[in-house]
Amino acid sequence: MSNLKVAVVGVGSMGSMALWQLAKAGIDAVGFEQFGLAHERSAAGGESRMFRTAYMEGADYVPMLKASRKLWQELEAETGQSLLNLNGALMIGPKSDERIANVIRSVEEFEIDHEVLDSAEAMKRYPQHWLDSDEIAVLDREGGVIRPEMAVFTAAERAVELGAQLRENCRVDSIVESGSGVRINADGKDEEFDKVIVTTGPWTARVFPQFADHLVPRKIVMTWYLSKKLDDYSSENFPAFGRVGGEIQTFGIPALEGTMTKIGSVATFGDVEVPEDLHRDVDLAELGAINREVARCHPGLESTPSRISVHMDAYTTDEHALVGPVPGSDKVFVLGGYSGHGFKLAPVMGEIAKDLAVDGVTSHPIAHLAPERFTV
Ligand SMILES: Cc1cc2nc3c(=O)[nH]c(=O)nc-3n(C[C@H](O)[C@H](O)[C@H](O)COP(=O)(O)OP(=O)(O)OC[C@H]3O[C@@H](n4cnc5c(N)ncnc54)[C@H](O)[C@@H]3O)c2cc1C
Repeated sequence: MSNLKVAVVGVGSMGSMALWQLAKAGIDAVGFEQFGLAHERSAAGGESRMFRTAYMEGADYVPMLKASRKLWQELEAETGQSLLNLNGALMIGPKSDERIANVIRSVEEFEIDHEVLDSAEAMKRYPQHWLDSDEIAVLDREGGVIRPEMAVFTAAERAVELGAQLRENCRVDSIVESGSGVRINADGKDEEFDKVIVTTGPWTARVFPQFADHLVPRKIVMTWYLSKKLDDYSSENFPAFGRVGGEIQTFGIPALEGTMTKIGSVATFGDVEVPEDLHRDVDLAELGAINREVARCHPGLESTPSRISVHMDAYTTDEHALVGPVPGSDKVFVLGGYSGHGFKLAPVMGEIAKDLAVDGVTSHPIAHLAPERFTV
């Protein structure tokens, strides 16, 4: 047990997990969240997230993804909540695509339980997809689907059960190093901490303007489609999927609520200047590319969405997150800019946040996520 006092600023996807990990380690931790827990403006909105270990973004992530999966399961065991359904994840695309090469490298180098299907085999097993003859599907049996809002809520509640304090509807307005500690001003009151973890998601460039040239919130639109054959899209029959090689990169999630299947585009819908002013309107003409991909690749689905929701996430210029000490400080740490692919990593990011606050270092491989890469 340490007598450190640590603040977590922003109790969303990463912050809730950081609070859980700190409380579990016996640290005196206080979480500040500007809105209510699991509110609909955070990057955790939209009902579902894909979990995958065969990683299109690069095999370097696999050890952290495996560690994250163990922690998801630990959180489930500690709380009795079902958060991660490991029904598999299909990665689809042309054999020649660099992102599919990353998938193959991930499964081979890190011995991920998987199967590689050629286009004919894939369409036979999963007639919900249409594949070109040069495309393959890699079934990542260690992948599946996460419930994001429930995950944030569960981790934060568990942290409180373990002794953390949670201040909801309490916005942090300044973070200033003060000699041996860090002073936080929230809701007009000052409070001293030994270390501060900043997990403010789409608001991160407001807290750290030094990263503003490399870190912007962007609008993300989710779309759900109907099918007459609902059972074909249940989580038993339709694994989550990621797909490259078409007009746009897409992903899909089985019909969790029982009626509609989420097929989303990873393309973003523009920068968000002020996160509070995120425009929720969507011009239907902007959905042309995703609707065309649904019509081309998913013959069993209607090709206009029946449900649309609008969210945001913070994107960096290289689409890898910022994780580590804020340059020039050994007391303030930033974990942000997850660029549309961070949710699956949230529990391991919580562990990394705890390691940084307690020891100043972590054994997880985060060198490629160092914040200095954007300030030197
Ligand atoms: C629609 C959508 C689909 C996605 N799909 C996937 C997927 O399938 N798989 C995947 O792995 N990832 C996915 N992602 C990405 C992933 O969800 C995000 O990368 C992740 O949620 C980012 O978490 P965060 O903690 O950085 O931000 P958030 O979860 O937004 O947390 C930030 C929190 O900080 C609070 N805050 C901000 N400023 C302050 C302040 N000054 N004081 C107090 N509190 C403050 C905010 O209110 C918020 O609650 C998706 C993202 C979106 C939006």
